Amino acid sequence: MNAMAGNSSADENTKIGEDDSPREACGVFGVYAPGQPVAHLTYLGLYALQHRGQESAGMAVSNGDSLTVVKEMGLVSNVFNEQTLATLDGYLAIGQTRYSTTGSSTWRNAQPVYRGFNHVEFALGHNGNLVNTEELAAQSGMLPGTVASDSDLVAELLANEMLSSPEDEQGSGLENALCEVLPRLKGAFSFVLSDRDQIIGVRDPNGLRPLCLGRIDNGWVLASETPALDVIGAHMVREISPGEAVVINNDGCRSFWPFDADLIDPKLCLFEFVYFARPDAFLYGQSVHHARVRMGEFLSKQAPVEADLVMGVPESGIPAAEGYARESCIPYGQGLVKNRYIGRTFIAPTQSMRAAAVRMKLNPLRDTIDGQRIVVVDDSIVRGTTTRAMIHMLREAGAKEVHMRISSPPYRWPCFYGMDTGSRSELLAANLTVDEIREYLNVDTLSYLDLNRLIEATGAVGAGFCSACLTGEYPLDVPVNLTKQLLESQNSTDSFDNNTHLFSKKGEGV
Ligand code: AMP
Ligand code: SF4
Repeated sequence: MNAMAGNSSADENTKIGEDDSPREACGVFGVYAPGQPVAHLTYLGLYALQHRGQESAGMAVSNGDSLTVVKEMGLVSNVFNEQTLATLDGYLAIGQTRYSTTGSSTWRNAQPVYRGFNHVEFALGHNGNLVNTEELAAQSGMLPGTVASDSDLVAELLANEMLSSPEDEQGSGLENALCEVLPRLKGAFSFVLSDRDQIIGVRDPNGLRPLCLGRIDNGWVLASETPALDVIGAHMVREISPGEAVVINNDGCRSFWPFDADLIDPKLCLFEFVYFARPDAFLYGQSVHHARVRMGEFLSKQAPVEADLVMGVPESGIPAAEGYARESCIPYGQGLVKNRYIGRTFIAPTQSMRAAAVRMKLNPLRDTIDGQRIVVVDDSIVRGTTTRAMIHMLREAGAKEVHMRISSPPYRWPCFYGMDTGSRSELLAANLTVDEIREYLNVDTLSYLDLNRLIEATGAVGAGFCSACLTGEYPLDVPVNLTKQLLESQNSTDSFDNNTHLFSKKGEGV
């Protein structure tokens, strides 16, 4: 491998995203297109997936002779420049933007993960989170410190499998290894992998995280979300099915099915529709933007109120606010301005600066709000920190009444499948009733969209969703001992949090 990287290390300071915001799923991308500038296409694809992960970015490019990996902490625009891209010559590439769920936010854990020795050479990008990481590490007899994240563990298992097969199997080695290793994995995983000659996409049997297939001149594309196809001029072919793996190489594109058919049970993360995915994405064939507008319309029918103005919390609450305003015939207006240049990397070393950071992010339009009865629409409340501070600002700006409407049910249960929301004790709705939340936020009324209405709003009723964070009904057993640094800690129970110990399948206490 050629590896290029800077010298970043984990930031000592507290970052807004690390302390106050939950983190979301990662973004993955892959392209096989001889004759096309694959590194540039991957750069554009990752740019379009930046919202899914902002801690690190990277890509692996093959010219048939070697696989070159470039990865670094930071945003896609910080990691790559024209000079770097110009050196990445090849005909296939994979890339990843990362938010950490298992494994801390360090250069070592940036992706793609790479393995290269003897006849083994491949790279892997992962979106999701495994729930049997510790069990797999123990079964494989890995010593502490051998691997640092669930994705690293998968790479290690694949490499071991490839090393144990004869060298003359090179070429098909990665696919054979996947057939052995994938059935052992439990949890959420949309993978893109590459060796020198091919790219491979895999979706877990529940399809918890999205992955789609696109076509470009003389090639194929894999991406977490459809906008990454749009930006490079590719067209959508279809979603990769839950439990499907696709191999793309010189012979074209073909599927194989590494999982037991009984395990295949579509459970796309419902929060992809509510919050994660870009509004211009399509999931289950439905427009995410239109689904969000419908959520607002349904919310207005479910929880009407007399008011002068409907406003959305930028950016995620805006489509639902449009829907609420349209259905209720209350005028829609912009009441908050968002600073577009403040990302989750904004550094706030002290608690008082962290409080100020919400104001840095959102500022009320006093003229619009003063003396008005306002309906404020957002997609979710997770910990309540941002929402409470935002309501306080609206009150200060003169709002006469504030009616909060949320386009999803109360977020009560931790996610183990790729969103790091922290433990139950940090989730507002796990600890307070809706009326107590109303009081805590200091709003006049508060309503959350019902689950059945939310699912109807997606336009994909019956397609299969995970809604565990809203219902406690986990589609897969959840880990009894999942901590973010479980593979990095010598004794993982040291940092064990009792709050993650409370749940098992279907939310039963254990
Ligand atoms: P809070 O009041 O601190 O719980 O923040 C609520 C805001 O967090 C809402 O505007 C949501 O759009 C946003 N949000 C929901 N899920 C996530 C997530 N996974 N990562 C970052 N922000 C999120
Ligand atoms: Fe998505 Fe919630 Fe399920 Fe996690 S628990 S995959 S956020 S629906």
